[in-house]
Amino acid sequence: QLASKDYQSYKRNIKIRQDVLGGNTNHTMMMAGPCSIESWEQISQTAELLKSLNIKTLRAGCFKPRTSPYTFQGMGEEGLKMLVKVRETYDLNIITEVKDSSHVDLVIDHADIVQIGTKAMYDQSILRKCGKSTKPVLLKRGFGTTLQEFVQAAEFILSGGNPNVMLCERGIRTFENKTRFTLDLTGVAYLKEFTNLPVVVDPSHAMGYRYGIPDLTRAAVAMGIDGLLIETHPTPELAKSDAAQQLNFDEFTKMFHSLKPVAEAVGQKL
Ligand code: PEP
Ligand code: MN
Repeated sequence: QLASKDYQSYKRNIKIRQDVLGGNTNHTMMMAGPCSIESWEQISQTAELLKSLNIKTLRAGCFKPRTSPYTFQGMGEEGLKMLVKVRETYDLNIITEVKDSSHVDLVIDHADIVQIGTKAMYDQSILRKCGKSTKPVLLKRGFGTTLQEFVQAAEFILSGGNPNVMLCERGIRTFENKTRFTLDLTGVAYLKEFTNLPVVVDPSHAMGYRYGIPDLTRAAVAMGIDGLLIETHPTPELAKSDAAQQLNFDEFTKMFHSLKPVAEAVGQKL
């Protein structure tokens, strides 16, 4: 199996424009931004925040896999074009998600990292299309997915010919419902030990509420992970998706500064 340490003992590195994620970079790459792109004003304010903190990668969804068909579904192609403009204006890497195979090629053509979400993880038409490209893919773990099933989903992309896959833990569904999901850091330890793929942690979707996210993020950074995916929004209370969990810019900035000593303690840079 291509993701296994038995096949390749050293960790893969993934080139993302001028940056490298994973491998022996000893770098925890911050990827941050709103759940959904909503307007030029919103996304350019976010881009300016990232630039001020020397963060290189902006996240924002255009094709949103919402739980209800009656809520905001994302800006679609218009949002994707806006993200391309953000990359040109601010020189940022862009990560955005696909929710079905109808727009996979479009997202592969325009994004720097293609995100496959927790609900799309089982969609083999998406996995196969991503396997035919060499575009970096961030594959999120299904919220009801075992670690073995998760790694096997990655194998569909790897065996299709795309070596550039990173695994993202974003919380699984357990018996607990006080928090949105349960961040499986135990699973992160497993993935680090047994796979050669870079590991990313998304505490935002696991927690579901602003209050726990800085603590979970520091805990994840202490594990020496390769990347973080964090939601931040200029006015979270007005966000069109995931309003309860997006950090405002002050909260995000404060958290970001608190991560550096944690990263250093485990020999990582942020
Ligand atoms: C997201 O990143 O905004 C998202 C929808 O994530 P997930 O697929 O993990 O729910
Ligand atoms: Mn979200």
